[in-house]
Amino acid sequence: MENLAISVGDAIEARCTKCQKNTLHVILSLAEKAPENVRCPKCGREHKYRPPTKTKDPESRRVISQQKAEHREWEDLRESMNSDAARDYSMTGAYKVKSLINHPVFGVGLVQRLVGSQKMEVLFEGGKKMMRCK
Ligand SMILES: [Zn+2]
Repeated sequence: MENLAISVGDAIEARCTKCQKNTLHVILSLAEKAPENVRCPKCGREHKYRPPTKTKDPESRRVISQQKAEHREWEDLRESMNSDAARDYSMTGAYKVKSLINHPVFGVGLVQRLVGSQKMEVLFEGGKKMMRCK
């Protein structure tokens, strides 16, 4: 069993409103076994304990919402997709925009864009992927 007991004087990761960072704070007082007041050793500020915030990574958040949007787009298009018409995907195949392909891993996808000479953007249930093509 992990001992989760904390006591006054312990260091705990907390959010400092002044430093705008998650830093190790010293516990000054406890309320119901949870830290109540802490002191930030960096700025010396004493304040109420705030749990550390998860590092906000705008890049990963953007990717998540983009994936959601792409999934929605796929769902919208799925109704009009005739998956029987999907051709098995091959790297050496030539595809047109709006043609359907059948990928062994990603499933049925809709060719949305031809990029450069040998790449195409395909919308799958799990999002858009760049695929090789002829
Ligand atoms: Zn601070």
